[in-house]
Amino acid sequence: EAYFRSLVAGAETMIPLANGKYVTAINFDNAATTPPFCSVLKKIVQFSPWYASVHRGKGYKSILTSKLYEHSREVVRQFVHADKRDVVIFTNNTTESINMLAYALADQDEKQVVLSTSMEHLANDMPWRDKYKIEYVALTGSGQLLLKDLEAKLQLYENKVKLVTVTGASNVTGYVNPISKIARLAHQYGTKILVDGAQWVPHMPVDMKPYTSPEHIDYLAFSAHKMYAPFGAGVLIGPKETFSKAVPVYQGGGAVGLVSHQAIEWDEPPAKYEAGTPNIMGVLALTTAIETLNNLNLHDVCQYERGLIDYAIDGLSKIPGVTLYSADDGNEERVSLISFAMEGLHHSQIAEALSQEAGIAVRNGLFCAHPYVEKLLNVSEKEIEYYQTHDDTTIPGIVRISFALYNNFDEINIFLNLLEHIAKHLQYYAWKYRYVLEPERCG
Ligand code: PMP
Repeated sequence: EAYFRSLVAGAETMIPLANGKYVTAINFDNAATTPPFCSVLKKIVQFSPWYASVHRGKGYKSILTSKLYEHSREVVRQFVHADKRDVVIFTNNTTESINMLAYALADQDEKQVVLSTSMEHLANDMPWRDKYKIEYVALTGSGQLLLKDLEAKLQLYENKVKLVTVTGASNVTGYVNPISKIARLAHQYGTKILVDGAQWVPHMPVDMKPYTSPEHIDYLAFSAHKMYAPFGAGVLIGPKETFSKAVPVYQGGGAVGLVSHQAIEWDEPPAKYEAGTPNIMGVLALTTAIETLNNLNLHDVCQYERGLIDYAIDGLSKIPGVTLYSADDGNEERVSLISFAMEGLHHSQIAEALSQEAGIAVRNGLFCAHPYVEKLLNVSEKEIEYYQTHDDTTIPGIVRISFALYNNFDEINIFLNLLEHIAKHLQYYAWKYRYVLEPERCG
């Protein structure tokens, strides 16, 4: 526990509370972003004297940087066991990766149906909406994917489905989808699968499996800033063939061979999909974060985080008035996050109280997965319409806690004790934090 904690920067930062006292900040918002590993920051400093752009010069530093940058693709490939025929494209984040893929796939064939699910982050929903006929696979009441509905839709749209696109792990409930089963089904019906790995790759060993496997993951997207590296680097992995065929959405230097006013000679992917000077520092930082995770053994990290979330779920379920949104029906796989609501308090009041009373950072609202949270909360279409057209600040939502490897049981105890206190003195807290209601922001 202490060793894990020593690995990240800023785990012991002191922050002021509303009453002026200082406490150690407790960050339970790691699904939004994780702090960087100290090893990552060290790498950035160590690399700084060697800093140069890639693929642009014959200078010593430029050649060195280019080598390290290209080597990063191999580190990423091995981390998720991507097939040799896949390319690793560096992007800015998961959102950009998925948008780029949505563009790349548009003109590849006649198939125009994309099967998404009702549990997606908007990053894996909106990019598919205007380019394809999008259908959403239904969920159970507690928010799990209905495999039967997936199969029914694959049958209904047989030979027309371009892609099944699904999150590896939900950023609302922490539920981990049965990706192998989904991939099997998709391939059985002659289509491909994209996994949004933003919440999955940082917390569990991921295996894309070789092309020969029916459980192969065709495309994978994830973000560096959710796995202990800085903001601004993301990954898109998929078959080279896909990206060879398509014209990229971003165009310019770095993506081409020879260009005249009349004709463009495109470079081979991945370069074709990395127009402009890439985020070299970000990519090297991501590589270092992956190497650190590899040294730790992601299985151990995963097990530790599972212990944390099970403990938190157990504690939360004993607090009167708390409803858990865990999509859990027993032994389901999950990542280390969970959402909840508390009777008598708006989600923003709970988040505010946790922050002001104990320096605990959580997320509240709809977490950019609006349809999913609305379904979990049974919010009707009519209500949604009302909130879309009125400047009402009481938009429904829930509270999310999300752990990373540096969190510990003491922090969870502080959180549970405070929530218990809030539950006992509900009226006092409802009064104290009555002015905090603010318009919902997506993110
Ligand atoms: N998918 C999921 C499941 C997420 O949780 C997030 C981040 N909240 C994203 C996609 C988008 O990631 P990014 O903001 O890094 O593009």
